[in-house]
Amino acid sequence: AGKKVLIIYAHQEPRSMNGSLKNTAVEVLSEQGCSVTVSDLYAMQFKATATRSDITGNLCNPKHFNYGVETREAFRSGNLCKDIAEEQKKVQEANLVIFQFPLYWFSMPAIMKGWLDRVLIQGFAHNYPQCYDAGLLKDKLALLSFTTGGTEEMFSKEGDSGDVKYLLWPLQHGMMHYCGFKILTPEITFAPEYVTENRRKEVLTSWAQRLQNIWNEKPIICTPP
Ligand code: FAD
Ligand code: ZN
Repeated sequence: AGKKVLIIYAHQEPRSMNGSLKNTAVEVLSEQGCSVTVSDLYAMQFKATATRSDITGNLCNPKHFNYGVETREAFRSGNLCKDIAEEQKKVQEANLVIFQFPLYWFSMPAIMKGWLDRVLIQGFAHNYPQCYDAGLLKDKLALLSFTTGGTEEMFSKEGDSGDVKYLLWPLQHGMMHYCGFKILTPEITFAPEYVTENRRKEVLTSWAQRLQNIWNEKPIICTPP
């Protein structure tokens, strides 16, 4: 109770498996007394591209645009555009951020990648050497919850897609851990389109059960040996 959860949700269809996984999280966590905020990226028509218009006011170097430098300075001076500032406020307040998405090309959908590109700005989320364990969001937890087209067998060591740990590495280590997040075990829903309705119900029940106990979970080590 009293904990704050932010769900970054990227699916176009509310009746999708992703929509159901998101709704389950909202229900279970709210029942616990957590305050839950959802950023429904497609519904918000969240802008995915990192562009000059993300900075309001004057640029440091109008002759040679450098997105990283300009957003770092704009963050410092309070000159970031409104949608970025709003997302940063939600992240700032959250104890746990859940990313709910369908796997697109071994990664997250562009709209969610764009959220990371635009929101997790230097000075806000990281500021070298404040990265990884020293990242600026180090008091927060992150959890990737995603669905796949491929089956669990395809994502095994012997499978055609290879061990799922390889695609988790850039997402969990390169993105989340870089910003300091402590990582909870990913929730991977394999091939929801190709399993039975009953199996999908079981998956949602087990996600709900996991969430009942989520605050007792220990972070994982996302840096493989
Ligand atoms: P949906 O089709 O929305 O849902 C599956 C089924 O669950 C539906 O029948 C729905 O009715 C049902 N359902 C929803 N809610 C409930 C409920 N409460 N109870 C019971 N049933 C329910 N896959 C890979 O493996 N690797 C890739 O690299 C990859 N790249 C992709 C790239 C692109 C551009 C695209 C479009 C897809 C890609 N995919 C890939 C496939 C994609 O990951 C899957 O299609 C997606 O994860 C399926 O999830 P969904 O929520 O969209 O499924
Ligand atoms: Zn790591």
